Amino acid sequence: MQTAESFRSELREWLSQAPRPEGLHDYGPTPLDTEMVAARAWHAQLAAAGYACLRWPVEHGGRGASVAEQAIFAEETAYADVPRQLNIVGPDLVGPVLMRYGRPDQQERYLPRIVSGEDMWCQLFSEPDAGSDLAGVRTRARRTDSGWAVDGQKVWTSGGASAEFGILLARTGGPGHGGLSAFVVPMRAAGVEVRPVVQIDGESKFNEVYLTDVRLDDDALIGDEGQGWAVAMMTLGNERLSLGANAVGMFRALGDMAAAAGERGRLGAAQQASLTDLWVRTWILRTTWERAIAEGAEPGDASFSVLKVMASETYRDIGNAGVEMLGLDALVSEDHEPLVQRMLVGHAQTLLGGTSEIQRNILAERLLGLPREPQLTR
Ligand SMILES: Cc1cc2nc3c(=O)[nH]c(=O)nc-3n(C[C@H](O)[C@H](O)[C@H](O)COP(=O)(O)OP(=O)(O)OC[C@H]3O[C@@H](n4cnc5c(N)ncnc54)[C@H](O)[C@@H]3O)c2cc1C
Repeated sequence: MQTAESFRSELREWLSQAPRPEGLHDYGPTPLDTEMVAARAWHAQLAAAGYACLRWPVEHGGRGASVAEQAIFAEETAYADVPRQLNIVGPDLVGPVLMRYGRPDQQERYLPRIVSGEDMWCQLFSEPDAGSDLAGVRTRARRTDSGWAVDGQKVWTSGGASAEFGILLARTGGPGHGGLSAFVVPMRAAGVEVRPVVQIDGESKFNEVYLTDVRLDDDALIGDEGQGWAVAMMTLGNERLSLGANAVGMFRALGDMAAAAGERGRLGAAQQASLTDLWVRTWILRTTWERAIAEGAEPGDASFSVLKVMASETYRDIGNAGVEMLGLDALVSEDHEPLVQRMLVGHAQTLLGGTSEIQRNILAERLLGLPREPQLTR
């Protein structure tokens, strides 16, 4: 059996030799549309070498990787400045959902193409009036003679313009959790219109997605009708777990920051204290993440919310500290990612996959048993 250290040296060797598609860098959970060619080429290389969908079981095309191997993979790819995969949605969110709720024919059809990177997936959950309050989803799927017809609007769909498929949360029944179902939507189907949203940093990773009388086959339903909430919770739980993997990459960010501040003579006592504090937080986060995988936490478990809050807020604070330390120099960078970008991405991470406020609500109610907040009537 391979040891963690032999896995590391094999991976490091492979990373040092694997040809880098032009323009490739560690773009995080989602590539920009302009990065797609490099991203797809990189994922194909990962797949060919057996490094795609590392934590999936072997029977579904993964490697059944141990916790130590997953941590090493996140660490080494961060140091090599390459992404861990094409994007987060297929490998980290949809794959595990299809393994749990998908029928065998769905697993056969979709899983191998996620491993190979031939299909990129996006997540069609949030709506203009249903973000934190996901149970308020209004997009409706109604039964037709041959399947389903979908009408509605989604927003903040990361990677929606490049994806082949989306995992959709839509209302098939009455109000609340129980009226929701999950579907596979081909993003090139008639009636799917994707409109890119330009962000404050000038990039465009999100989209609005308009669904107008989109016809889906009967077999597009994931799980049973009315099981959409369980599918959504598993998807969000895995998103929170996946974010924890960023912890390993944060060590690199801290090292880069310390080096840049040192070169500019800006490493005073306060800055050193701040860097040390962030390093400690990153270390705790890393062990919490490893523990969550090792314990096989279920998506509803509070450990996912702890991870989500800690990972996103530490990432945000590293960016903030970098901007404070480097001042205007945080706007420029010799490589692809100025620190100011890291700071903005960190703030975004405190929102995606359920905001910090929502995670704290979950912890307060489920873990501490504090009174539930009043429910608004819809
Ligand atoms: C980078 C990024 C990528 C994303 N990618 C996707 C994607 O691919 N697919 C997708 O479906 N969605 C995606 N999202 C959307 C994300 O899930 C939502 O932004 C998030 O759930 C918050 O919803 P909202 O933006 O509608 O804010 P709202 O729900 O309107 O919340 C506004 C503010 O009110 C606070 N708030 C709301 N309810 C409560 C409460 N009960 N108690 C305390 N405070 C509360 C929130 O914390 C927030 O600060 C992404 C978001 C970001 C930032």
